[in-house]
Amino acid sequence: MTIRDKILVVEDEKSISSFIRAILNSNGYDVIVAHTGSEAFSMISSHCPDLIVLDLGLPDMDGMRIIESVRQWTQLPILVVSARTHERDKVEALDRGADDYITKPFGAAELLARVRVAIRHTRLSLGGDGLANAGRFVAGDLTIDYDKHQVLIAGENAHLTQNEYKIVALLGKCAGKVLTYDFILKELWGPQSRGSNQILRVNMANIRRKIEKNPAEPKYIFTEIGVGYRMVEGD
Ligand code: CA
Repeated sequence: MTIRDKILVVEDEKSISSFIRAILNSNGYDVIVAHTGSEAFSMISSHCPDLIVLDLGLPDMDGMRIIESVRQWTQLPILVVSARTHERDKVEALDRGADDYITKPFGAAELLARVRVAIRHTRLSLGGDGLANAGRFVAGDLTIDYDKHQVLIAGENAHLTQNEYKIVALLGKCAGKVLTYDFILKELWGPQSRGSNQILRVNMANIRRKIEKNPAEPKYIFTEIGVGYRMVEGD
C-alpha cells in the first residue's frame, strides 16, 4: 500500500462536497469533509491532510479566517473554491496565503489540475532544495524517500519491512505532531482495523533497532507514553 494524498474538503453544501469527493476519490486521493470552519480546524490538526480545498462561505465563519490561521503554523497548501468571483476576493485570499483560487462552477479537469499543482508546489518548497528533494523527508541522518518507499540512514537503506516503512512514512508526513496509536492503526490498516497497540510496539522496536543509534534513547521517533508516537521535525 502506498500512502495516498489526503485532501480535506471544507464545504457546507452537500451536493458540492459530494461532487468534489467523487472526483478526487476516483483519481486516487483520500478525502475527508468538514462542513463548518470549526470542524475544519479540528480535522486539520487530527488528520494531517496534504491539501485543503476550501469554500469561503461557511455557516460559522468566513473561510478567509481559516486561511489566515492555518498560515500561522503550516505551509499546508490551500486551494480556495468559491462562488465569489470578484477580483478583490481572489486577491484577498491569495494575500492571506491561499495557494490558488477556483471560482464556482468549475469542472472536474480544472479541479484536478489545480490540486496536482498545489500539492507539487508544496513538496518542492518544503524540500527546500527544489527537485532534488521532492518527495523526501529529511531529519539529520534520516531520510524518508517517498518515491522509492525507502528509509535511509546516512544514505544507507535501513531495510525496513513494508509495515515498518508505512509507520515511518506516516509519522514523517505529520512530523512534529503526536499521532495516537489508534490513528496510526486506522490509517495503515483501515477504519475497521482491529489491530492492537502491541503490533505497533513490536514494529516500533524493530524500526528503532534499524534507524536509531541507541534505540533506548531515540533521536527520530519519540514515544508519548500512553498516547502515541511523534517524528522529530524535519530539517
Ligand atoms: Ca458555502
